[in-house]
Formats: sequence, structure tokens, C-alpha cells
Amino acid sequence: MSGMRSCSHTSLGMHLLPLLRLGEVRVSLPVLERRRSGTQFVEQRARTILNPPESTGMHFWSLNPYVGCEFGCSYCYARLAHRYVVERARDRGQTLLEQEWGWEAFERVIFVKRRADVLAALDRDLPRIRRRNEGLRQTIAIGTATDPYQPAERKFAITRAVLVRLTSERGLRVGLVTKSPLVCRDIDLLRDLQRQHHLTVHVSLITTDKRIVRAFEARTPLPHARFRALNKLVASQINAGLIVAPVLPGLTDSKRALRRLFRAAAAAGARFVHASPLRVSPAVRAPFFPVLERHFPDLAARYRRAYAQASEAPEDYRNALQERVQDIARQVGLPLDTSLAASDSEPAQLSFWSPPTAVDE
Ligand code: SF4
Repeated sequence: MSGMRSCSHTSLGMHLLPLLRLGEVRVSLPVLERRRSGTQFVEQRARTILNPPESTGMHFWSLNPYVGCEFGCSYCYARLAHRYVVERARDRGQTLLEQEWGWEAFERVIFVKRRADVLAALDRDLPRIRRRNEGLRQTIAIGTATDPYQPAERKFAITRAVLVRLTSERGLRVGLVTKSPLVCRDIDLLRDLQRQHHLTVHVSLITTDKRIVRAFEARTPLPHARFRALNKLVASQINAGLIVAPVLPGLTDSKRALRRLFRAAAAAGARFVHASPLRVSPAVRAPFFPVLERHFPDLAARYRRAYAQASEAPEDYRNALQERVQDIARQVGLPLDTSLAASDSEPAQLSFWSPPTAVDE
């Protein structure tokens, strides 16, 4: 596959590749690259690129240059979007996977949206935002279901192409979420973008505890690398801050853990912070619970009980966490990111997760 590996994404030429045949499985889309680990990058056609709020249930437009994510966080809800793509193709008679990966397909077979399609789709989709909002600023969130700066971006640069296109617009709100220091490659563009739009870059990190990070995130950059990236962004005058998503009950939600995380973010220059609790949707259960059982068996039964009826953490817990986050952010001097913040603040308690004996200061 070395020939495929050396293909330039600028000249892609992937449409010239025949269907790939491996063993008995015929894969319907061109494979752009194949890693020794078995991870593949497969080219995907894209008819649209901006998902409107009503199709996702989020209150902003979203844009994802890839489907799937090499970082492979076990709590990631985006596995469902990946499965949807695979199954929809299967309904059309196409086979996108060479083997059955189960939920792991999300991090093993990454769909790379074809650059020319993405740009053409943006040309079609951007006027929809302008028409529907008549001059009002509107948010486009980049990276809600993939990391736009996962390692593949170094080669395929689809995110960069999107940012370049967005610099010819003005007056939008653009939010970008990533765990990767690769975002610093685009500081020049982000500065241009910030002149045209209201820009927020959310560097995502759940905790400063490397052991917990590695337990739940298979291949993400370690915390110090993310803080360094955050620091570089802010030093370049980019409006960047910390997003803590998800906060893991009983693991990363203590006052001490959150304070340490927020302080480290403040020391790196973060301009804002946002934190939200774990959701355990059906797509998250299968990859997440085995990891929890392996690394933190004492908590597994409590998680199963708490998330038995719903994807959301119990309401009391969510409210108490929100209060705790607000308090600590205030102490540390970090403003909360209001574009993503929860709105209510009913009195509640965290004792459901944090037994009184827990070290919490
Ligand atoms: S980095 Fe983000 S998109 Fe990628 S697996 Fe982790 S949570 Fe999902």
C-alpha cells in the first residue's frame, strides 16, 4: 500500500483508483491510506457539509471534516454517526468496511470527506445560513463529531481547506473543538478568521491525571501537550479556552481535580472554560463500560445504575456539578463560556458520586 500512502491529497486522483479488493471483501470507496496498525482512511463523497441545528438537536450549525476519529475516546458519542454512514451505505449495497470492527470501526476506518466536495458543499451551504439569519451572527461549530485536528489532518488538510474558505465570509460565530496540538499549524489562518468572525477555539481535556486520560482515550495527546497548544494559541492572540467534556462522575469531578485542571488552564492563558457531565448514550455503552470495569471496577455498578434509565447523568448531579464548576472557575478567575453553558442552577448535591469520605479538597 506504499503507493497509496504517498498519494498527495492536493492532487488526490483517488477517483482513479479501482474498487479495492482484499480477501473476499470488496470495499466500495477508495482507500487513501492504510496504517500498519490496520487503521484505514477512506475517501467519502460529501453532498452537504453544514448540518443545520434542527437535524442534530444542537443550537448551532455543525461541520465535521471527517467521520470517525483516530483518537478513539471510549466515551465518544460520535460512534453512532459513523455507524450510520456504514449502514446507510450497506442499504445502498455498498461495503465500506473490510471487516467487522463493531464500535471500534469509528477509530479504525476514518472517512475523509473529499476536499473538492467539501468546498463545493460549503459554497452551497453558507448562503443557507446567511438567508436564514439575515445578518444575525450564527455559530458554526467545527469538530462536534470528530476531531478536526486528528493526525489524519496533517496529511489531508480538510479542516485547513474549510478555514481558508471561511476567511472569505464575515460576521459568523465560529467555534472549533480539538484535543490536538496540530491546531497550532493553522494559527495564521485562525488569526485571519478571528478578524472576520467571532472565533472561539476550545482545547479539550478531561483531567490533568494522565492515568485517567490514558484509560479512556486510546490515542489522544497527553495533557501537557494540550496545555502547550492552548498557551501557543493564546500567545498568538487567539480566543482560546478549555472545554472539559465530559466530566466523569466520581473520577474527575472532585473540587481538587477540577481546581487543578482549571488552574493549569489559567496558567496556560485560557480565556474561558466550559465543562459538562458525561452522557452515556446507547452508542457509548458498549465501548465505555468495559473500559470502566477494567480500570475502575469499584465505580462500574454505580455508573450502570445512574445511567440505567437515561443517557444524561441524574439531574441533581448535573446541577451540583454546574454549581461546582461555576465556583471553581470564579475562584481561578476564568470566565465560563456562555455559548455552551447550562442555564439552570437548582440547589443540588454531588454526594451521589462523591461519598463523604472521598478526598475532595
Ligand atoms: S477526540 Fe473527540 S471526536 Fe475524537 S474520539 Fe475523542 S471525543 Fe470523539
